[in-house]
Amino acid sequence: MSKTPQAIRGTQDIFGPDAEAFAFVVETFERVRKLYRFRRVEMPVFEKTEVFARSIGETTDIVSKEMYSFEDRGGESLTLRPEFTAGIARAYLTNGWQQHAPLKVATHGPLFRYERPQKGRYRQFHQIDAEIIGAAEPQADVELLAMADQVIRELGIEGVTLHLNTLGDGDSREAWRAALVEYFGAVKGELSEDSQERLDKNPLRILDSKDPRDRKFVADAPKIDQFLSDDARAFFGAVTSGLDAAGVKWTRAESLVRGLDYYRHTAFEFIPDEGSAAAGALGSQSTILGGGRYDGLMESLGGHPTPAVGWAAGIERLAMLVGDKGEAPADVIVVVEDDSLMAAGVTTLGKLRAAGLTAEMIASGSPRKRFDKAVKVGALSIVGLSVRDGETNLRIKAEGDMADRVEAIVR
Ligand code: ATP
Ligand code: MG
Repeated sequence: MSKTPQAIRGTQDIFGPDAEAFAFVVETFERVRKLYRFRRVEMPVFEKTEVFARSIGETTDIVSKEMYSFEDRGGESLTLRPEFTAGIARAYLTNGWQQHAPLKVATHGPLFRYERPQKGRYRQFHQIDAEIIGAAEPQADVELLAMADQVIRELGIEGVTLHLNTLGDGDSREAWRAALVEYFGAVKGELSEDSQERLDKNPLRILDSKDPRDRKFVADAPKIDQFLSDDARAFFGAVTSGLDAAGVKWTRAESLVRGLDYYRHTAFEFIPDEGSAAAGALGSQSTILGGGRYDGLMESLGGHPTPAVGWAAGIERLAMLVGDKGEAPADVIVVVEDDSLMAAGVTTLGKLRAAGLTAEMIASGSPRKRFDKAVKVGALSIVGLSVRDGETNLRIKAEGDMADRVEAIVR
């Protein structure tokens, strides 16, 4: 016999309780995004490579080493999406969605990054994603973050805190950048190879490094606050007071920068608190949700300047924190205890489902053992159909008011 094919490294076949937890995350997100009136979008899984290269930035980890790019049969370079934002921005421009601005959209689905697979880090993973495009006001940041916070709370996830920073406007960011080049330049030889390179290309990203050689210099690096323009300071102040008014808890994280080129002003991550159960469950892959304001992105794709803010969260990482959602028992199991009643069983099953009860049927194996099998599988109620004295006999085994409910439907 030939060898069975193996799954691709870094992909997952999600099943059982893990799949239920995954679905719970998606369902909760769908419910909450409707509360905030985010509109649903469905996006292509692949785009022209330049969509990501131009918006995320050539020197980012994603573009320089994580993308799944290939030539299609027409010789065009395409890339499996490593994130949603760039594709949504492309769609905003190509479809003239400006007419809907400010546009609040939400989506979820698979993303692809060539990374070293480990717990909470995969090559095909999934995100929930929310964006507000064409809104320059800090109120948009507040709305977006309030929604993120509500998603996490409704998932029942505890011990996770919003870490918030501002990268300032263009001028503040430039002054900060120069100060970082000077600071890190003085210790260049002691930095990781990656960060030595970042020093020329994007020194902000050294702050985002996970390498211990870099981490030890990050704490004392110059802070953005010294360089904020009055406008940028006022913007950040409006975001933080809006969050307070909305009841969203946050903490200031002065060296949080995020790894992408396109961020301005607000940048944020939801991170498990040290020592919390959530931190324990996720190990070192601790950021569950990240995002920020990307006012410069549309221009990098050749569009007009368009202010926007968004976030994305890993579904797998969220699912690891929602606990065991189990697979709920059925409301009803219909047991066909005599094969001549197969049609009646199917009809009963249909009535139950039409009435909104979850139901399945047991109608195989030895007829006398079927009822016991249903008891063993377990359900909130069991309906047995048998023949007694030539008549159909119905017996219902149920707890509490379920008995009356089922009785009313099946009689
Ligand atoms: P990290 O620092 O963990 O690499 P990131 O900054 O690359 O994360 P983003 O691009 O901000 O991540 O994506 C947002 C979220 O998507 C992350 O917080 C995480 O929950 C999830 N995520 C990102 N990459 C992966 C991956 N390879 N596998 C699983 N989840 C991921
Ligand atoms: Mg990453």
